Amino acid sequence: MKINRHYLELQESYLFSTIAKKVSAYTAAHPEKEVIRMGIGDVTLPLCPAVVCAMQRAVAEMGEKATFRGYGPEQGYAFLREAIQSHYAGYGVALSADEIFISDGAKSDLGNILDIFSLENRVLVPNPVYPVYVDTNLMLGRPVTYLNAGEENAFLPMPDDTVQADLIYLCSPNNPTGAAYTREQLAQWVDYAQKQHALILFDAAYEAFVSDPALPHSIYEIEGAKSCAIEFCSFSKTAGFTGTRCGYTVLPQALQFEGVQLSKLWLRRQTTKFNGVPYIVQRGAEAVFTPEGQQQVMQAIAYYRENARVMAQALRACGVWFTGGENSPYVWMKCPDGMDSWAFFDRLLEEANVVGTPGSGFGENGEGFFRLTAFGDAEKTKEAMARLQKLIS
Ligand SMILES: *Cc1c(COP(=O)(O)O)cnc(C)c1O
Repeated sequence: MKINRHYLELQESYLFSTIAKKVSAYTAAHPEKEVIRMGIGDVTLPLCPAVVCAMQRAVAEMGEKATFRGYGPEQGYAFLREAIQSHYAGYGVALSADEIFISDGAKSDLGNILDIFSLENRVLVPNPVYPVYVDTNLMLGRPVTYLNAGEENAFLPMPDDTVQADLIYLCSPNNPTGAAYTREQLAQWVDYAQKQHALILFDAAYEAFVSDPALPHSIYEIEGAKSCAIEFCSFSKTAGFTGTRCGYTVLPQALQFEGVQLSKLWLRRQTTKFNGVPYIVQRGAEAVFTPEGQQQVMQAIAYYRENARVMAQALRACGVWFTGGENSPYVWMKCPDGMDSWAFFDRLLEEANVVGTPGSGFGENGEGFFRLTAFGDAEKTKEAMARLQKLIS
């Protein structure tokens, strides 16, 4: 028996464990201090009432012989795919329900989708980046090429015609940088992908945070994207499903490579290796798209958006360069006084008792930057930003 040795090539991720160790060492030494955590990318508000009621009804159905359900349809229940189809129609994107695939989250699909592509593909990944894109490729032994993001392009890298690529990862609004592509910028990516006969893997996990009507929610709002992009989306950040687990991936019929429809390969992959998302969870997800569900979910997003606004305002007041803070639950700030990411982490923890995430944990180009999240409590967010402002101004 031999193991997949590519796993040994993965960089050990010490990011969140190092943060946890440093924070617990600090709180043990200073039990009287109130430490405010703005580091973790997880939601804190509960599931909304519309979702909870829908799931409770579904639980009751599962307990009755007449309404019990076993294995569900492979691509997800039609009621949920049709609700998602209407959601896209609201952005002016016409999809058919069979172009939508329900899953247990975007992370799974982003990893699993690699099953249907040749190992020979050249992969382009932004840096800094959500680590899943890099690690899932390295696990298969496929090297990645980095696309440099930085202050010079406001962390929104654009295509370079001299670089050859087959698979391109884009995430907008972005984790960790909070930056979001405009329509014109995404159109340039679509154009590049078409010229290269490449495929864009578009992560839209934060689309619900887009508030600027000029910015796209979906890559399919860009002409031509249906023949060169797969879109990954999730109820995690939109509706607080991080622990409930539901997402969806869109593979338009127009996506054809080497004369093969990608959706056929994906359906085959899913029916072979995946048995679907619980009926109860899919009913909960469906409720997100009802008028009450939308109103409730948008109220929670408004709460996080207000935190982001407070954070952005504080950084502006002390003249700190940052991206995000709008159209995103993240603020990505430049560390003051040329400090590196971990030096600033230590200073912020020790002198302001605020925890964030060092940018260097998301790739080399994140060095010197720092991520703060808007998923916390409103009062604590205000307090944390007041402390930060005092520290650096
Ligand atoms: C949170 C997040 C997701 C969502 O993942 P799930 O598996 O659906 O919870 C996807 N992409 C990015 C960049 C994220 O930050």
